[in-house]
Amino acid sequence: MSRKNTICYLCGEPGADSRDHVPPKGLLPEFQYGKYQRITVPAHRKCNSATSDDEEYVRDLLIMEAEALHLPKHELITPKVWRSWSREAGFKRYSSIIRTAVPVNLITESGIYVGKALGVRPNIERIKSVGRKMVKGMICYDTGAIIGSCEIPIGLVPSRDLPELRSKDAKDPFWIGLSSDCCLHDICADTVAIRRVYEGIPMEGGHGIVVRFAILLWTLTLLSGVVFPMDAIRRKNFRFAINLTIDAWQRGAS
Ligand SMILES: [Zn+2]
Repeated sequence: MSRKNTICYLCGEPGADSRDHVPPKGLLPEFQYGKYQRITVPAHRKCNSATSDDEEYVRDLLIMEAEALHLPKHELITPKVWRSWSREAGFKRYSSIIRTAVPVNLITESGIYVGKALGVRPNIERIKSVGRKMVKGMICYDTGAIIGSCEIPIGLVPSRDLPELRSKDAKDPFWIGLSSDCCLHDICADTVAIRRVYEGIPMEGGHGIVVRFAILLWTLTLLSGVVFPMDAIRRKNFRFAINLTIDAWQRGAS
């Protein structure tokens, strides 16, 4: 690892002694590690492991939902999750999720009641913290810039609501950007994809970059938008869309 690559993407300090997967390895099916794009960024082991419990929590939630909804390919991850639940830490996590369960009515999209099920109340803050880590990781991978966590807003949308949201706000720069040729798209597994678009913008005291994200995690999509100074870019060959005002996006989209 060369010296410039040893900056930890999580704390911004030098001396990174490991590489972290974006998205977290736990969300990828085991035998597909090598099949799709493997994105890794430098991190300290201790910074990386600080969020591993949150990552496992998010994976547990997603797999429970995927199983309950009989989503295709849930069996790619299920065995690994069940194995982790059979260990002490995994069982604790599983129990803490189940403790929040309440009976809910299952209603089909056409409004027909089909029975009762257990619904769990997700810990939104833990999901957001995993989302922030993925946003930081992708920005570091794309541009070399290190972003502080407090500057990263995360919105959560059930993936099934995404098409409606997108068509309702079709003129929003967020969706226009993500539908443009400038959108970078990595499919990390059958269950995980990351879309993002970088755009140059004028900023107080110089130039800035705005990056918009849609991170598709199976049943859940995380939306984010981050602004950072152009000076933070450390990758010389990084290319972004510039001079694309909202008008230009809209012309391009029409
Ligand atoms: Zn660190």
